[in-house]
Amino acid sequence: MIEFKDIEKSFGRQAVLSGINLKFDQPGIFAILGPNGSGKTTLIKSLMGMVFPSAGEIWIDGRLKKGNEYRNSIAYLPQIARFPENLSVSEFLSFIENIRGQGSRKEELSVVFGLNDFKDKKLRTLSGGMRQKVNLVSALMYDTHTIILDEPTIGLDPIALINLKNWIRKEKEAGKTILLTTHIMDIVQELADEIVFILEGKVYYRGSQEELLSQTQTENTEQAIAQLLSLQKAS
Ligand code: ADP
Repeated sequence: MIEFKDIEKSFGRQAVLSGINLKFDQPGIFAILGPNGSGKTTLIKSLMGMVFPSAGEIWIDGRLKKGNEYRNSIAYLPQIARFPENLSVSEFLSFIENIRGQGSRKEELSVVFGLNDFKDKKLRTLSGGMRQKVNLVSALMYDTHTIILDEPTIGLDPIALINLKNWIRKEKEAGKTILLTTHIMDIVQELADEIVFILEGKVYYRGSQEELLSQTQTENTEQAIAQLLSLQKAS
């Protein structure tokens, strides 16, 4: 269970989050959408302790988030991965296991994302798509009840994309709560149980895709989101 209560965040004089209230207490896939700069990454970073909100509270599993001890209960895929570039892929994954302990799913995930084809390559030599696969495996290695995916599909080839979607579905069936940001509307349409649309630092819409289509009188999620995005331009 994740709850954001009255979260505010300003960078200097720029208000980025202006009173975000969101509760995720059911398993499911929740797409966090909004125009560039609307505050999605800042909200996720607040949860992960990488940004300190100016006001508000974050509750995790019924407890007020204070230190960083909750971090092992959340799998987090950052938008931009920073790796120890001189390690090889397999050295890097073993390095994570040395820190977090055995019992990871790295072998299974390495097969899912085809990492074994380049496991001996140094991280600094990888292509963008390869880096994203390593990012995914390292983020999803441990079995956690909450999964946060910030733009997970960037650079992935079609097979990796299909495998990622299947993995996300499987995790949802296992009862996980998955928060996802993406600009790829096909992914949202295929996967999301609910859409959360953030506009100018506030939750502008939250609900199912069906409700969104009926409210916006559009035929598909892409059109509905385009309509919500045009609100910002009009305002
Ligand atoms: P989104 O993920 O929705 O595209 P972000 O949360 O990354 O948006 O950014 C929201 C706004 O906050 C942007 O205007 C961005 O420039 C600003 N911002 C984000 N991080 C910082 C930071 N560390 N310092 C100053 N401004 C920031």
